Amino acid sequence: MTRTPQDTFLSDQTLATARTAAADPSTVPVAITAANGEQCTWCDCPDGPDSPHNQRGYRCPGCPATAANVVSTFAAPNLRYDFPACDRHTTDIVASIAHLVGGAK
Ligand SMILES: [Zn+2]
Ligand SMILES: [Zn+2]
Repeated sequence: MTRTPQDTFLSDQTLATARTAAADPSTVPVAITAANGEQCTWCDCPDGPDSPHNQRGYRCPGCPATAANVVSTFAAPNLRYDFPACDRHTTDIVASIAHLVGGAK
């Protein structure tokens, strides 16, 4: 794939935006858009060492709700993660992304 000057320009802009966001821990590059009938990606399992997710072969039932929003975040300029979220879990997903991307220790 050949990059056009326009591609490079847009890529540079995205990179600059992400870099700026990364420099400020209170800012996370997250976009919330309308969902299109996806299932919520969150689950109500407990976190930590007692999480059933630590058990080999455990199949999480997840949240059965239909997503109302899609929370998107950028790990890199060309690496986007989408997390469909129901109304109840949108803030949970945004908070967990903020925790991960914000570099909380
Ligand atoms: Zn789970
Ligand atoms: Zn949910």
